[in-house]
Amino acid sequence: MPLRALKEGQPIHAYNLSQTEWLQLKEQKKGITLQMPCCQNRAIPKTSKLGTQFFAHGRRGDCTSEAESKEHLLAKSIIAQACQDEGWEVTTEYQGETPNKERWIADVYAKKNKAQLVFEVQWSPQTEELTRQRQERYQFSGIRSAWFVKERKRNYYKIEEQGLPYFEIKYHEENNNFSIPKYNITLQEFIKGMLNKELTWFPQKGMEVETGLVTLSIPCWRCKEITQVVAGLEVKNQTETFKEFYNFDEVSETIRSMISHNIQQKYNIGTIKKRYSKTMQQQYLSNGCYHCDAIYGNFFLREEILELLVCDADLYPILTKVHHLGEEIPLPYQSWHFQEKRGTYNDSI
Ligand SMILES: [Zn+2]
Ligand SMILES: [Zn+2]
Repeated sequence: MPLRALKEGQPIHAYNLSQTEWLQLKEQKKGITLQMPCCQNRAIPKTSKLGTQFFAHGRRGDCTSEAESKEHLLAKSIIAQACQDEGWEVTTEYQGETPNKERWIADVYAKKNKAQLVFEVQWSPQTEELTRQRQERYQFSGIRSAWFVKERKRNYYKIEEQGLPYFEIKYHEENNNFSIPKYNITLQEFIKGMLNKELTWFPQKGMEVETGLVTLSIPCWRCKEITQVVAGLEVKNQTETFKEFYNFDEVSETIRSMISHNIQQKYNIGTIKKRYSKTMQQQYLSNGCYHCDAIYGNFFLREEILELLVCDADLYPILTKVHHLGEEIPLPYQSWHFQEKRGTYNDSI
């Protein structure tokens, strides 16, 4: 059911009419031409049970446009208005096509200068395959898109991808509004934030990060002398919106490049080099005792550091340096961040 109609051939959007104007339109419908955008059949102004103003077919005829739930209609209306409030030119139920003439209809299409966006609301279940197919069509048409789907149980498919912004929404009867549970924010606020570039794919490849060696001071298992071993790297960006610990084996080459002979002597760190491990039955880049060169395996280091990490202990990294994510430091799990918050899925549903 569209929010848009043609009044005397000119497009109008239902949400731009006040309640009074809407009543007037209902009353004068016989004196004016009001047409559906999908089939040009007669349009009837109506109000849904959730209070959303929309247009219904006077006569469906052979129109193939799909019926929508009242929730879909409301979410679409909220998104369209949020875009308009931010100064975007909005068309609901927008008809477009791919370069090879495949047609598509988007719930909300928004345009500002050269930027084009579409927003899709999915209240009824839709297979992941179909979501991806429809997304590809928009991509092929050179238009960025975002999906807003009904919050479902945890075992229903979730998508967290840079190429497919996909967010669950939840309807709240008490205020007749939707929220994005993941970020605990209303749908309007989220849309406005999106248009103001507050939604980011994070952390980004190539991002500058400060790395610091996390070392442990331990008595050697063989010679009993105190030696330092490098358990890994603490990696963070300047604002600390990103802060992670990387285990030695994930970044061993980078760690080796950070430790010079002088540093080794200053901190009593054993040489980082390939050693043969009997347990692993192979050679790998490893820590060793500063005094007797005994090997310190990765499993041992992971266990030691885990004990500190579970009690949230401060790591006091030494020798901070600047590195880049996705280059010297492997790219970690990336996800959509809103206003620098990672967001959480609700585990209770
Ligand atoms: Zn129609
Ligand atoms: Zn030793």
